[in-house]
Amino acid sequence: MSDIAHTAESTLRPYGAFLVAAPAGGPLPKTGIYPMRPSFTGTSCPLPRPNHPCEGTLGVVGPGERAGPDIKHRIYPMRPSFTGVTAASLHPPKPSECGRYWRESGRLTGRVHPRLMAAEPPVSRNFRVFMATATYDVAIVGMGILGLAHAYWSARTGRRVIVFDRDARPRGASIRNFGFITVTGQAAGDMWQLARRSREVWAAIAPALTTSIQHHGLCVIAQRAEALAVLENFAAGEMGAQCDLVDGATLHRRYPGLPFEDIETALLSPYELRFEAPEAISSLIAYLQREWDVTFAPGTAVLGIDDNTVQTSTGNVAAGATVICPGADFSSLYKEALSKRGLKKCQLQMMRLADPGFRLPFAVQSDLSLVRYEGYAALPSAQPLLNRIENEQPDHLRHGIHLIVVQNADGSLVVGDSHHYGDAPSPFYRSDVEHLILEEFEKVFRRPPPPVLDRWTGIYPYADNPYFVDAPSARTRLVMVTCGAGMSTAFGLAERTIRDLLGDTA
Ligand SMILES: Cc1cc2nc3c(=O)[nH]c(=O)nc-3n(C[C@H](O)[C@H](O)[C@H](O)COP(=O)(O)OP(=O)(O)OC[C@H]3O[C@@H](n4cnc5c(N)ncnc54)[C@H](O)[C@@H]3O)c2cc1C
Repeated sequence: MSDIAHTAESTLRPYGAFLVAAPAGGPLPKTGIYPMRPSFTGTSCPLPRPNHPCEGTLGVVGPGERAGPDIKHRIYPMRPSFTGVTAASLHPPKPSECGRYWRESGRLTGRVHPRLMAAEPPVSRNFRVFMATATYDVAIVGMGILGLAHAYWSARTGRRVIVFDRDARPRGASIRNFGFITVTGQAAGDMWQLARRSREVWAAIAPALTTSIQHHGLCVIAQRAEALAVLENFAAGEMGAQCDLVDGATLHRRYPGLPFEDIETALLSPYELRFEAPEAISSLIAYLQREWDVTFAPGTAVLGIDDNTVQTSTGNVAAGATVICPGADFSSLYKEALSKRGLKKCQLQMMRLADPGFRLPFAVQSDLSLVRYEGYAALPSAQPLLNRIENEQPDHLRHGIHLIVVQNADGSLVVGDSHHYGDAPSPFYRSDVEHLILEEFEKVFRRPPPPVLDRWTGIYPYADNPYFVDAPSARTRLVMVTCGAGMSTAFGLAERTIRDLLGDTA
């Protein structure tokens, strides 16, 4: 058991992963407080209800102890704002209820309830982060997919990692997207390799996530002869080697419930994975906490990075290395360096439609994607298709519209999207743009679209090159994916960045 400096309520002091408080001016508890790993989520006992957000008390179970009636003398007042999660009841938990014992220097230091490990909303009901006196090997700015991917590779090397985000929960592009890990359609070469590697990582960690893969693969429906030529061209190349060109009858035979029986041709790609983006991101955070001891500091803006100090809105943190993944924030950190990159913001419109009554095993795209995604658009055969679409669907091109349709576990469809570029995107969702997207939906699915349930916009950074990694100092990296492919490439890109920054990945 450690000697820790207990403090009065008014001067809460960070220790390990818990803020431990004694009553203001009261006697300081001498027993029952144990060192916690930074990501420890603890055993808190707000009497008498177990598994309830903790309000006002903290009970700590010590080495070899059980959370029994004697827990009483181990209940300490907590700040009213404490948002820990109850993990034990007054009754000794059954062995099957004990998820894991954390050990620090060989000592039992606490118990994590399996429910916390299995299904926790990772940030929302999270413990407080104790960092004012803490030192980390790697600090990450941003808990979007790029920040999380860097946290993953850093933690795998055994480093102590902390991730900051100014928002209480992820709210950036990473939870607004299709959750679509796209390989087919990425630009040949580097981006395709990054996407393949990222897909491999997503597939490897998927069983440990509390969310599941919704789709495997992609189906691109050709609506015009020119589109068929592009798909044939693509399928004949290296990137199309494992893709399959099928006619409507074959598609219908393989997937009888889908409304595609009278289509001419479709390309089936086996590579893609699709998660529901918000769930994928929150379960990835939980996974990083649980399996890799990554500490999260939500609601904490990073204001500056100076040598080995990360200055945040809640204090300074020492970190050996820092990776900044700020998404479309070009002005908070390294503004000057970013201003030389010719960055724009790309705003997209998205919607969720009611369950159409069929189940998609894959994501669906149409001709418009073939002139948008570099992997097809760079093919010589794409020019005649573009010419024809310019004639037939000029408004779709003007608004950067192409069709992606994916399906959620509840049957609803996520449908998009449009692309508008600028330095300050309009906050307003446009119904004329929505109409154009739904028009394309109707053409491809040969039926009127189901009712729109939700609408939202999202923004990602855009530049001529699809990503960049800057090194403002030897121990700092600034990483941005500047196209709409961060979900598909982050793990591959982060692996390279961390290898370069830390010298190893595991
Ligand atoms: C509508 C839409 C659809 C898309 N569809 C796809 C798709 O299907 N497939 C695909 O691969 N990609 C897709 N993308 C692109 C993909 O979502 C992005 O490339 C990716 O999410 C970018 O991740 P990120 O971590 O860089 O940014 P974000 O997810 O935006 O995260 C950045 C985070 O950094 C935090 N932050 C910034 N500055 C600070 C600071 N100073 N202090 C603390 N926190 C800070 C922000 O609060 C934010 O949470 C889509 C994007 C959108 C908008």
